[in-house]
Amino acid sequence: MKKLFVLTLSIFVISVFSVVTVIAQNNNSGNDNIGKIIANKTEFHFKFSITSKEEISKLTTIISIDKVVGNQVYAYANQAEFAKFLQLNYNFQLINSDINVDNIKMLDNLNSKQIDAWDAYPTYTTYDSLMTRFQLNYPNLCRTFSIKTLTSGRKLLFVKISDNPDVTENEPKILYTSSIHGNELSGYVLMLHLIDYLLSNYGSNSRITNIVNNTEIWICPLANPDGAFKGGNSSIAMAQRYNGNNIDLNRNYPDPQAGQHPDGNAWQPETMAFMALADSIQFTMSANFHDGSELFNYPWDTWAKGHADSTWWNYVGREFADTIHLYSPSTYFNDMGNGVTNGYAWYTITGGRQDYMNYYKHCREVTIELTSGQPPAASTLPTYWNYCYHSFLNYIEQGMYGIKGIVTDSVTGNPLKAKIFIQGHDMDSSHVYSVLPLGSYFRPIYTGNYNVTYSSSGYYSKTINVAVSNKSSLTKDVKLVPLYVNIQDIEDNNLISLFPNPAQNTVIVSFNKNTVENSTLELIDVCGKCIYRNTITSKNNIQTIDLSGFAKGIYFVKLQKNNQLLSVKKLIIN
Ligand SMILES: [Zn+2]
Repeated sequence: MKKLFVLTLSIFVISVFSVVTVIAQNNNSGNDNIGKIIANKTEFHFKFSITSKEEISKLTTIISIDKVVGNQVYAYANQAEFAKFLQLNYNFQLINSDINVDNIKMLDNLNSKQIDAWDAYPTYTTYDSLMTRFQLNYPNLCRTFSIKTLTSGRKLLFVKISDNPDVTENEPKILYTSSIHGNELSGYVLMLHLIDYLLSNYGSNSRITNIVNNTEIWICPLANPDGAFKGGNSSIAMAQRYNGNNIDLNRNYPDPQAGQHPDGNAWQPETMAFMALADSIQFTMSANFHDGSELFNYPWDTWAKGHADSTWWNYVGREFADTIHLYSPSTYFNDMGNGVTNGYAWYTITGGRQDYMNYYKHCREVTIELTSGQPPAASTLPTYWNYCYHSFLNYIEQGMYGIKGIVTDSVTGNPLKAKIFIQGHDMDSSHVYSVLPLGSYFRPIYTGNYNVTYSSSGYYSKTINVAVSNKSSLTKDVKLVPLYVNIQDIEDNNLISLFPNPAQNTVIVSFNKNTVENSTLELIDVCGKCIYRNTITSKNNIQTIDLSGFAKGIYFVKLQKNNQLLSVKKLIIN
């Protein structure tokens, strides 16, 4: 182990040395101070030019690109990443990302009147107390959870807001998290403000009451507390983008294109805790708030190809940006032309949480860049709140629209996990699932006419046609018929009748010929084995089955068409 340690250390020394050398060359000053600066730096912020957008595909696997403006790339790197970047011989400029302490008023007293102004950054300790106080002040609406205590002792805190906070309801679950990049902190305060706004307006503001009654809202204002409070719990003055291990958490997720560990790093504690949460709760829609630009960035980040729901994404993004523009100067929230972009069209990344949530978790997650400041001056936070909060509410409400319902077993009535797939539309995991314990599903979608197929292992699939409109929801509760097990008579239609029943040597099956044309009639034994099969045409709407070769017992007469079950009747042979 010791040998390995020495080796690792020497690689580190070499990489620091090469960083110092190249920076010295790059700056032409050869200044001795640079060595000190580098040795003390865990994170580099820099910019450089590219000649072709194609270069980004390679660069994005080496450094953490923050934004691309024209041919200028702004990026971050830890020591190891920066050493790799230097080998590419780009002419770069270091950016001083020190935070101006005059701008970042800290809130360190929960009892201060100042808290209602939401114009200061809470210290870590104040934040922790504030999150706890939401539940204490609103016990009927709010629960505060920690999903992970990091080795620093800092916690990944969430509030859940619901009119029945201890119950899993048949409601879409909406997730907001902010500041996965520890120095992008406007959303940290704006999310705290949003929690307060939702809780304090419930019961008096009809829009908020409707939202809280019909959704379950999860909010994590600070997804990277170790990055934000890198310099200690009392100030964000030393905030950095990466986490306590100097890893970019928003490049640390499984990626649909690049696989399980696209950044070459182990999953970080923050990543694992969040993935466990996303495994246990099926979020319908989510947003991850950043700073550095001003735009709504929808999937995919990793693929040039469009998302199946690109039309819907663009519509929801436009609503978000256009609503902001109603309340803000025209200069705000219009990066990439008009404030809305497909991720890849801006610049590609791998390992981002957005693509992970969309591809692996069947959630609609967007990346929202709130301000150009990193972080913005505390005094400007109430202004950003006024620009943005209507859009925060719009986005939550979009989770209530589209196709929704409950999928159950037609025989037992038990809720089912089923795949809900839109024919000719869904691709790249854009389908959703109904989830237990309720069998509930939510499928936001753009206005249109869709054929929706519900399928579950051990059940006949069912396809229905639906017409949905934007800003409204359509409830479709679906019962799936089991393939073989526990089939009792299904008396929900009159498509076939059996005579006599119980039968001896023959049974006469009569059909409603309009519906059953070109369907298949089967006789199934109790083990599920098909022992007789015939195709029904419109000409033979009465059929006699010879039972003389079959043992006494219980059988099922099934009628199906195009792989969908039309009817099942129990037949007894005695
Ligand atoms: Zn960011």
